[in-house]
Amino acid sequence: SKTPLVAGLDTARSAGLFEAACKLIPGGVNSTARATWSGWSPYPLFVESGQGSRLTDVDGNEYIDYLLGLGPMLLGHRPPRVTQAVVDFIQSRGTVFALPTADEARLAEKIVAAVPSVEQVRLCNTGTEAVLYATRLARAFTKRNKIIRFEGMYHGFSDGVYWSKHPSIAKAGPDDRPVAVPQGPGMPKGVEENLLILPWNDPQALADAIAREGDSIAAVLTEPVMCNTGCILPRPGYLEAMRELTRERGIVLIFDEVITGFRLGLAGAQGRLGVTPDLSVFAKGIGGGFPVAAMGGRADIMALVANGTVSMAGTYSANGIAISAANAALDELATPGLYEKLDAVSDELRLGLGKVLSEAGLPAYVVGLGPLMQVWFAKEEIHNYRDAERRADQDIFRRWWQGMLERGVLFHPGAYENLFVSTAHTREDVAATLAAAKQVAADLAR
Ligand code: PLP
Repeated sequence: SKTPLVAGLDTARSAGLFEAACKLIPGGVNSTARATWSGWSPYPLFVESGQGSRLTDVDGNEYIDYLLGLGPMLLGHRPPRVTQAVVDFIQSRGTVFALPTADEARLAEKIVAAVPSVEQVRLCNTGTEAVLYATRLARAFTKRNKIIRFEGMYHGFSDGVYWSKHPSIAKAGPDDRPVAVPQGPGMPKGVEENLLILPWNDPQALADAIAREGDSIAAVLTEPVMCNTGCILPRPGYLEAMRELTRERGIVLIFDEVITGFRLGLAGAQGRLGVTPDLSVFAKGIGGGFPVAAMGGRADIMALVANGTVSMAGTYSANGIAISAANAALDELATPGLYEKLDAVSDELRLGLGKVLSEAGLPAYVVGLGPLMQVWFAKEEIHNYRDAERRADQDIFRRWWQGMLERGVLFHPGAYENLFVSTAHTREDVAATLAAAKQVAADLAR
């Protein structure tokens, strides 16, 4: 760990803390996305603090932060309204009661008002839980077992869906009929029999699978915008085709809006793209940085939760911290003009980065929607996971990331992650980012 993370950046304290942490914490970190093998090699930055659009590491380096906690810090770090609401709640009322509070219904009302497809909603703590509940509910509602999910996506780490996230193509079967590849050992045998893995953005593959096995398929589970293999937009008509095909066969369409929800607008990706799922999952967008998630949708499906047929439990579900944070965050997000401004700043970044990279003559382009984007270093377009594996140059991405970090711009070192923009980011932040990008692009083009 004496090797610097990035040449030209003093991160000695991070190196030392990582070495010490590794003795006590396996891999030195508490999530795979922070591990050396996820790109934070030879060690991750250790954080001192965040404020607004900025993050400061333990060596005193300050960065413009597009990592944003991998999404939740939509209002920037330490958003005053959210922080205050949480502090007030825990000081004056408490945290966990195992009884409801009036605040939960107020939060549910805001979510239902924001997202037209959500008639009723249950709260929980993480995206993983919310997806687990949504798939269980879909199985109970349809009395069928199989779930269709797509290569390259991530829906949390529960056994039932932690498959075919980023499989080696060699092990993943033919392009049009992928086999389910577990994230690793430890997954119970047999789970994969209830999973059907498909390439994304391919309406024919979906139509064929549903024609073949429609009567045993409970749900199609998808991110409406693929955010876990970089950023990949749905091809025009794809989500609409998905909606049609599932409706015809009584298959529950689940949108995993853990990343896109409340980030691409109050009504999420579904509002922005105009396609209505049966069930939706929200998490990162709703808590202003605190752990809170939600699963909701059609009242006739949610009725199985209402009547106790399907259990959704959780000691910490709708705890005081989560609810006060989310209530404050959603109030803040309802500020008139907030998303327009967020989009304007984000567009400036996305278009600006695209221009800088193309002017440098690099085979690269930027894909995104509003405050969510990723740079692809590729000569051809990328529409699904295998395109990314075959076409994206991960080595250039790594050098791009290093150059940007050296110049004070932080995002995840993995090409399959995203750049996130918050409401705290300013046009000045974007200008500084583009100035750095210009230098890095010139170096890469050499
Ligand atoms: N679904 C998607 C699309 C995600 O990106 C993630 C996390 O990155 C999850 C689910 C899991 O959410 P959590 O980390 O809150 O369990």
